[in-house]
This record gives sequence, structure tokens and C-alpha cells, in this order.
Amino acid sequence: MTTTATAAVLHEPHGQFTLEQVTLDDLKPDEILVRIEASGICHTDILVQDMFQLPAVLGHEGTGIVEQVGSAVSRIKVGERVTISYGSCNNCPNCLQELPYICDNSVQCNFGGSRLDGTHTIRLAGEPVTAAFFQQSSFATHAITLERNVVSIDQGISAQMLAPLGCGIMTGAGSILNTLKVGAKDSLVVFGAGTVGLSAIMAGRMVGATPLIAVDINASRLDLALELGATHAFNAGEGEIPERVREICPRGAKFSFETSGVEQALNDAIMCLAMAGHCGMVTAPHYGEKYPFSPSEIFFRAANLQGVFLGSAVPQTFLPQLVGFQREGKFPYERLIKTYHFTDINQAFKDTESGDVIKPVLLMD
Ligand SMILES: [Zn+2]
Ligand SMILES: [Zn+2]
Repeated sequence: MTTTATAAVLHEPHGQFTLEQVTLDDLKPDEILVRIEASGICHTDILVQDMFQLPAVLGHEGTGIVEQVGSAVSRIKVGERVTISYGSCNNCPNCLQELPYICDNSVQCNFGGSRLDGTHTIRLAGEPVTAAFFQQSSFATHAITLERNVVSIDQGISAQMLAPLGCGIMTGAGSILNTLKVGAKDSLVVFGAGTVGLSAIMAGRMVGATPLIAVDINASRLDLALELGATHAFNAGEGEIPERVREICPRGAKFSFETSGVEQALNDAIMCLAMAGHCGMVTAPHYGEKYPFSPSEIFFRAANLQGVFLGSAVPQTFLPQLVGFQREGKFPYERLIKTYHFTDINQAFKDTESGDVIKPVLLMD
């Protein structure tokens, strides 16, 4: 039985979303249908607008109530509240070793625009549209996702708090805790004070990283970084970041973490490292293009440059941990969130792109 939903449909890159009636496909055996209560907006929802065939239904930080389950679903029940995270194939060597964040088919699963088998989950006026974004497309009242994408977290926390956990917050915290494994007294420089960067700052404070330096061009975001635990905040607009880092840690930083996608920031994130330092990067300048880069800066530091996917996190175990840290007051990510009604999605995007709001969360009810 097909389901009708209201989805925010994007017809032009960086144009307005329009709320339209769409039809969701029948569930496959391993899928579930979720009535979306809340969905975060992530910077990736902006970046992909130039890459995708449109029209498209985006959104990849959904939370809601399970309304239907496919015939092979066993762990998740109708009526449960679930938080939806990223897609993985469940079939490649990395997935079979429970490393879904480095699934061989990660790009196809999350950015393919359809199910892995090529079938479509959403139709608009009878025609398939680009959807199944992160195997969810959560800018809608209902979404089809896979049982393995979702986490059921104990009640007692609101949908608006659960929704944004599945991507940016998980990525920021996970990169520090799981990938780079930053420890007490380790120096850490975080470039970009958006959702991912500020989540990294909070995780860095939690493990006792020091000095813990935030770098951004936005003064109010730097103030927030200081409130959330950064020991220093440098305005990138003033330049000379590697030199300023060395004024505080003369040998350079043990860890740097680049979240901004700005060319200068990636160069600075490498240049500020100590010998054998580690730089994690969750985005890249100039997607798909070349840019000036000096490998000798890595070689002469015996440094490590690592691309990080999804904070090396398995959502079913990591997201409940983050909720626990938040409840203990150690990971106050509620400070990043501003809620909007679903009908105000265009305003929410405007506020994200201007930098005024860090983590907009849409409420569907
Ligand atoms: Zn896989
Ligand atoms: Zn995201």
C-alpha cells in the first residue's frame, strides 16, 4: 500500500523548497516507514544541491515514529521512536566487520538518489524524483528508511534533540573520540565553529584536551566555542594561525581537525601540526577540483592527514552514549539548536547559510 506524504521539494539548486504531495513506494522487506517528527538541516543539504539531478527531496537527520515495518524487520517495532542516521550496504567486507561508516558503497548509499538497487522511494506527480538521501530524505512528513539505519533511543528526550544527532553532531564528536582518539592534555585545533566543529570542541573538552583552540571567521561562533570549552579562539580573518598556535604550543599541535572546507584552513590545519601530528578532515576545499597543496608540509612533519567519514561512529552504540553525555551536562549540544516549523524551511536554510543559526531543526507536527 503506497503512502502519501508532504515533502519539501527542491526544483532549482539553491532555490526555494516547495511543500508538495508525494507518493512513497511500498516497503521492501528490510525497510521501515517513519512518520517524521523532526529533522535537522545539515550543511551537506546545501552542498549537494549542485550535484544532484533535481527535483529532489533532501534531509538526512530525521527522527520520528515507526508506522510500518517490512516483512524481514525484527529489531524495530511499529510505534517506536527512532533516530535515523546514515545508510550502508550491509554486504561489503567493512559492513560485515561492523564498520558501516566506511562501507564500500557509502557514496552510492547516501548520495545515489535512490535505493541501492536503483529503485525510487518517492514519486512526484507519478514521476520518480531524486530521494533516498542518506537512505531517508527526511524533509517530509514520512520517510522510507532501512532498519539498519535507525537507532531506538530510550524515551525521555525530545524529537528535536534526537534528530540532529545522526550526522553533524555524531561526526564532530566521533572524529575526536573515535577517529583521532584525542586524549587528556593533547593539544587540538578545530577549524570551523559550525555544528561539526563545535561538537568536536565539546568532545575535546570532555576528554580534557588542552590547549583546545577554535578557529573561525565569525566572532559570535568563537564566543560560543569559548563557552563550550575552547581554551583559545582565533579569528581566521586575522591570519597567521600556525604562528599563533605555536605561541601557545611551541612544538605545534598534536591534533588538528578541519571542518570548514576552506583552502586556507586545510593548509593551516597541516602547518600548525607538531612532528607526527594528526589532521582529520571532514570536508574538502573545491570538491572534485585540484587546488594548490604542498605534500612536503606533511612529509617534513611526518604528519598524518586523514579523511574522516561520519565520525567513525556506529550509530546504534554511539548515539545513546552522546545522549548520556548530554544528560550529564558534559555535552550540551542543545546550545546549537534552533527550531523552525516545517513550513518555514526556506527561512531555516537562509539562517544557516548566513551563519546566524548553527543547527536548525524542523518540526513537522
Ligand atoms: Zn557496505
Ligand atoms: Zn550531514
